[in-house]
Amino acid sequence: MLDGPTDIPGGRRPGRPGDGGRAEGASKSAGTPRSMLPAMELNGTAAIVTGAASGLGEATARDLAAAGCRVVVADLSEQQGKAVAEAIGGLFVRTDVSDEQSVQEAVDAAASAGPPLRVAVSCAGILFAARTVGRDGSPHPLAPYQKVIDVNLIGTFNLMRIAAAAIARTEPADSDGQRGVIINISSIAGMEGQVGQTAYSASKAGIIGMTVPAARDLASIGVRVNAICPGIIETPIYGSGPGREDFLAKLVAPIVFPKRMGTPAEVARFVRAVVENDYLNAEVFRFDAGIRLQPR
Ligand code: NAP
Repeated sequence: MLDGPTDIPGGRRPGRPGDGGRAEGASKSAGTPRSMLPAMELNGTAAIVTGAASGLGEATARDLAAAGCRVVVADLSEQQGKAVAEAIGGLFVRTDVSDEQSVQEAVDAAASAGPPLRVAVSCAGILFAARTVGRDGSPHPLAPYQKVIDVNLIGTFNLMRIAAAAIARTEPADSDGQRGVIINISSIAGMEGQVGQTAYSASKAGIIGMTVPAARDLASIGVRVNAICPGIIETPIYGSGPGREDFLAKLVAPIVFPKRMGTPAEVARFVRAVVENDYLNAEVFRFDAGIRLQPR
């Protein structure tokens, strides 16, 4: 639950940083039965979200800010990113997730924002579609394949490694020794990619594949790692061309229930639920209303 009762000892107290919630670094179990421990406390912490100028990332940044996080909006899109940061009292840092220096600067900004960095969410991503051998007989171009891997997979690892190193320098937040949480946005296409999705599916499968080893690597510093695989979510990633409605109608058809696209806010709520639940680790979650992608 996001907003639990506030009258139990140690219960969550939603609000803005510094409003008197549990002090960061204090043992959340001191004098409190384990069954009554509050969830991973977000209020009074810092977070970084890539791809936060748009879609799932924007919704996630807004949700984390509403929970009391100081959020660094890390995105290529300067105008939209600045607007989101301003709306949520966060900080925009122009970031290319595939670039080491760029991500280092964004994480440095998040780590020096005041409150301890606890959460890093990788949402930045791009789509690309081409058959392995095209209808005209030409092979899949290599450059866009490399670009998709660079942004979606290497970009996600880039944030995870640099953010985890920064989180490791914070004091533990609780008596378990927990310091923070990494959430990587993959896709159900990482499990059952469609025709033309070799690049995108490989990039998303890579995120799935690194979930368990990364969670094992980062356990010693008290950082949990989980991946979320959204299904069909209504965001600008699908573009705005003339064939959009037909294309989306075909994608939505195999959804089990509810038979509609998901909303970015629904994904953001799930991201927050995973962040706030201390016992979720090394897991890959489908978030897709039961759809299994069809070949095309
Ligand atoms: P979106 O609205 O297009 O948002 C993606 C954001 O990432 C954009 O602001 C984009 O900026 C930014 N970005 C792209 N390349 C970047 C880079 N190198 N460095 C930093 N930022 C970069 O897309 P979305 O639908 O919210 O997608 C978010 C994530 O969810 C992606 O990883 C996507 O693969 C995944 N996902 C989406 C769905 C879905 O149905 N929407 C389903 C499964 C998974 P520009 O606009 O300037 O490129």
